[in-house]
Amino acid sequence: MNGAVASSVTRDARAALSIATEAPLGLRIAATTRSVSITKRIRMRYLITGDVSSTGEPMPGSVAEIFDFIVTGAGSAGCVVASRLSESSRHRVLLLEAGPRDRNPWIHIPLGYAKTYVSSTVNWRFETEPQPQLGNRRLYLPRGKTLGGSSSINGMVYIRGNHADYDEWRQRGCEGWDWDSVLPFFKKAENQTRGADEFHGVGGPLHVSNQPGRFGLADAVLEACV
Ligand SMILES: Cc1cc2nc3c(=O)[nH]c(=O)nc-3n(C[C@H](O)[C@H](O)[C@H](O)COP(=O)(O)OP(=O)(O)OC[C@H]3O[C@@H](n4cnc5c(N)ncnc54)[C@H](O)[C@@H]3O)c2cc1C
Repeated sequence: MNGAVASSVTRDARAALSIATEAPLGLRIAATTRSVSITKRIRMRYLITGDVSSTGEPMPGSVAEIFDFIVTGAGSAGCVVASRLSESSRHRVLLLEAGPRDRNPWIHIPLGYAKTYVSSTVNWRFETEPQPQLGNRRLYLPRGKTLGGSSSINGMVYIRGNHADYDEWRQRGCEGWDWDSVLPFFKKAENQTRGADEFHGVGGPLHVSNQPGRFGLADAVLEACV
């Protein structure tokens, strides 16, 4: 990837963000905890580390780098966007992540989900506002805070949205998001071990397989649902 990942030190990412938003370089940095945001300015100047003068110029000894794209948040969406933007090698891409590198071993062990679900190092551990319908209880809202974002702490269940939801988006004016339009992209992204068919694809970056074990109760629930 022809880019840079500023992830290892949260402080660096925060410093970079604050410098960029303050610097009079016409940069627009939109950070979000929910999804990815991309800032594009052809040949924009972006400071990775170091101090800026009152005019926004790098101070002696600081490092200035040039990027074509800045992607904020190295989660599911941000990693894909940064990867796709940089794969041609024509663009320099900076991918910023507020959390640490994904070195926590529990990220790489499927059952580690139980650990990362409550970890404060790789999980923002958000809470909802008090919910009036639930006696004003706040609900726990885990979100990933590491390279890979929530996909580094998720349950690894491959699931797509309901067809009708995509079609409704289209009906509400979101052209290109109806089920027939998004299905080819689901298939393109997938490497389904059962092989390709009308709904599934092979050769994509997302490896998908059936559960290796069978559970009578789960089979009965599925049978009752269809
Ligand atoms: C516990 C859990 C279990 C789940 N299980 C499943 C499942 O089994 N199957 C499934 O399909 N989906 C599951 N999901 C949902 C799925 O993982 C998410 O919908 C998806 O990862 C969201 O992708 P995203 O790119 O929108 O955000 P995220 O992947 O959450 O990425 C956002 C990234 O931005 C970073 N960030 C935030 N603010 C800043 C900032 N200011 N500067 C820099 N970086 C910042 C965050 O640290 C994070 O890394 C689960 C989610 C959770 C939390």
